[in-house]
Formats: sequence, structure tokens, C-alpha cells
Amino acid sequence: MYDVIIIGGGPAGLTAGLYNARARLNVLLLERLAPGGQVLTTDWVENYPGFPDGISGFELMDRMKTQAENFGLKIQSDEVTGLELSSERKRVLTAAGALEAKAIIFCCGATWKKLGIEGEDRLMGKGISFCATCDGPFYRNQEVAVIGGGDTAVEEAIFLTRFVSKVHLVHRRDKLRAARVLQERALSHEKIEFNWNAVPVKIYGEKGVEGIELRNVKTGDVVRKNVQGVFVFIGTIPNSDLVKGLLRLDQNGFVVTDDNMQTSIPGVFAAGDVRSKLFRQISTAVGEGAVASYAVEKYLENVAG
Ligand code: NAP
Repeated sequence: MYDVIIIGGGPAGLTAGLYNARARLNVLLLERLAPGGQVLTTDWVENYPGFPDGISGFELMDRMKTQAENFGLKIQSDEVTGLELSSERKRVLTAAGALEAKAIIFCCGATWKKLGIEGEDRLMGKGISFCATCDGPFYRNQEVAVIGGGDTAVEEAIFLTRFVSKVHLVHRRDKLRAARVLQERALSHEKIEFNWNAVPVKIYGEKGVEGIELRNVKTGDVVRKNVQGVFVFIGTIPNSDLVKGLLRLDQNGFVVTDDNMQTSIPGVFAAGDVRSKLFRQISTAVGEGAVASYAVEKYLENVAG
């Protein structure tokens, strides 16, 4: 019987684990593969405080993991298949068997949203990608499309210019959502061409991507761009299937919590990108992980009497 089981090993889960392990709780972190979460696919992080020259996403997460383990956090690679949360003893069902804990911190993060257009499923992994760090080097001196106008799309478009000859950035409006500093860099970059008010409608190719068809949402005009890669960065969907019907979710499926990260069930907390909120950052996930760990300690003091 654990004091707390943390599900998910991104910045929120690792921070909660660090704090709870340091507070000498009996804590286990479960992660499907290796800890790190979505940050692992981010090439360079330059707005996480304490690293004035920036740090690679991989190194940042590796450091967080090492720091948590130094305080005794146990990390287990295991897929959680179900949760039983209604009684005071929470049960976590995994492929390796059932585990029990007095409290749960749910930090399962979010997954990239797909476009849902012709050619996407067929060419997934054959030219369509959600990770510029992983796949950018395959497109040396080629042309690629980047879909989206948020921080991720603009940041990754800039990163891709290291390899490719041209980035066709495709955004459905005529104004970027991304932070001003990123906008300025992208708008002045000679390798980035902006396709405003445009949405992708079809991706061409059989064995690999050969082109993308874009429709102008104002004029209805359709154009084809001959690109060899398509990078999709149109936001994320929460990894909340495990708690559907168990915890209160918002209309988009993100977990609703109070200010102390407490979900609709006492003793069950949520932190990071899976939580319903406005701003998804490494720094906000870290802060929420710390708050959740503290709330767990207070909760355990009460249930333990
Ligand atoms: P996001 O902020 O939700 O942006 C998604 C972008 O995709 C928006 O420009 C949106 O257009 C567009 N979009 C959504 N659905 C679409 C569709 N079906 N077809 C075409 N375009 C579509 O997602 P994100 O950029 O992944 O960022 C997620 C969170 O992480 C944000 O809070 C962001 O600030 C944060 N983040 C921060 C950093 C950083 O600080 N360095 C880096 C990456 C991410 P509209 O603009 O028209 O809605």
C-alpha cells in the first residue's frame, strides 16, 4: 500500500514525485515508457527559468528524473489499464497487477491533435510528423509544411529551418497565436513562407508525402504545395480516457481541479497538461506538481487521522 501513486512522468509528475519522496512519503511513479513526457520531443527550451542559455528538452527531463530519484522516488515502467477511485483505498490496475494507494496524482499529459484530412492516416510516419526534433534532420534541403499558428508550430518551424530549404507555415487565420518574440523571429526568417487564412484539405503521396493541398478559407482558392514533409502542431487533446466517467472533466476532456489540484474525488489530484487551464508550460506543470504534492501531504494527514 503506497501513500501516493503518481501516474505520468512528465514535468508535473516528476516534480510531485521529487517533493513527495523528499517528504519521505511512500511514493511510486508509473510511466508507460520512459519518464519525460512531451518535453522529450522539444528540441530547445529557452523559457524555463534557471537556464539562461536554454537547455535541450531531453536534458531538462533527464535532470528532473535524476533529481527526483536522488530523493528516493521509485519509477516503474508500467501501463495503467484501469482505476478504481471510489473508496478511500485507490486501486491502480496495471498489466503487471493491481496496486493500492491512499492518494493518486494524475499527470498523464496530452497528445498531439490530428488534422483529420485525406492522406493523413496513410502517410503517418511516412512524411507526416508531430516532432520536429525527431524528424527534422530527414528533410535536409527539402521543403516542408508546418500546420498551426501557436507557440509550438512557430517554434518548431524556426527549428526546422536548420535543415530544410523552405518551411510553408499554414495558419487558418491572418494572425499568429504564438508569443510575440517567436512571431518576430519567424516573420523575419527568409526560409519561412506564410500561408495565411489557409487550411490543409489533402495530403498527396503513396510511399511518402509529395504535396499538400491548401484551401483559402476567405476566397475558397485551392493551391498545391510540393512538400516532402508535413509537421502538424495544432494543439493537444488530454490523455484522460482512464478517468472518463470517474472524474469531472471540462467540455474538451481536461480534468477539472480546484486551486490545490484536487479533482472531483477526494484524494485524487491532477497536475500538468491534462488539467483544465489556460496556460500549458513546463513551468506551470512543475508548479502544479509541487502544489499537488503538498495537497497530498495535507490529505494524508487527515485520512491517517
Ligand atoms: P495551441 O496554443 O492550442 O495552438 C494551436 C494552433 O493550431 C492555433 O494557432 C490554432 O489556430 C491552430 N489550430 C487548431 N486546430 C486547428 C485545425 N483543426 N486546423 C488548423 N489549425 C488549427 O497549441 P500549441 O501551440 O501546441 O501550444 C499548447 C500550449 O503549450 C500553449 O499554452 C502554449 O503557450 C504552450 N507552449 C509554449 C511554448 C513556449 O513557451 N516556448 C512552446 C510550445 C507550447 P487558432 O490560433 O486560430 O486557434
